[in-house]
Formats: sequence, C-alpha cells, structure tokens
Amino acid sequence: MGIKPVADVPTHSQGYGASSMKDWGTSAHDALVKAGAIKPCRHHFDIYLRTHGKDAESHAYAIATNTLKFGEVQEGPRRDFIDLVSDTLDRTPDTCFICEAAYERGDPRGPPLSLDQLM
Ligand SMILES: [Zn+2]
Repeated sequence: MGIKPVADVPTHSQGYGASSMKDWGTSAHDALVKAGAIKPCRHHFDIYLRTHGKDAESHAYAIATNTLKFGEVQEGPRRDFIDLVSDTLDRTPDTCFICEAAYERGDPRGPPLSLDQLM
C-alpha cells in the first residue's frame, strides 16, 4: 500500500496548540506498534526494537495517516507527522542494549529477566 508524499503542505508553524488529544510522539509510536513495525524486546517490554518488516512499516504510515485524518491526534501538517513516524522508526534500535550488555558480559543467566518472562 503506497503512501503518496504530500509536497504542498505549508510548513507555516511548529506550534500545534494545546490539546487533550494524543501528542504526535505517542501517536507515532502507537502506529508503529500497531502495525508491527516495532515491538518490545522479549525480555524488556519497555524497550522497542525495529522489526524491519517492509509491509509493517508501510502499514504504520497508513495508520498514522488515518489517526491524523480522523482527528485522533493533534492537527498539523500530514507530512510533518509522517516524518516523525519515519524518524521514530530510524531511532528505534535493532537490538536490545540490555540484552546485548548481558551477552557481552557472558552472564550465564542470560539477559536480566523480568517476572513477565516466567509466566
Ligand atoms: Zn532485552
């Protein structure tokens, strides 16, 4: 599903006003999670990793576009919001740094566990 870039959105303002709606950062994150483009580390649920699924990433942009269209997120230029989704994706690591650190230490217990893993 292709997303057509919108080239003619005016970038007049960075201030989108106060709102009780979801902020862009939260909404961008949610779109990526919902689409499966990022997902939590198996051991650390607060650390998100990029899945590199091309379909999932396309889907995330579609979800983001819809959240903007249906007013679930603060109003603003669509292109800026899509850029934010893209930036969020780019900033999401491929691997969990806690797991990597444990692995590098050669900790025989493996990555630090959370109780959730025992369930
Ligand atoms: Zn981890």
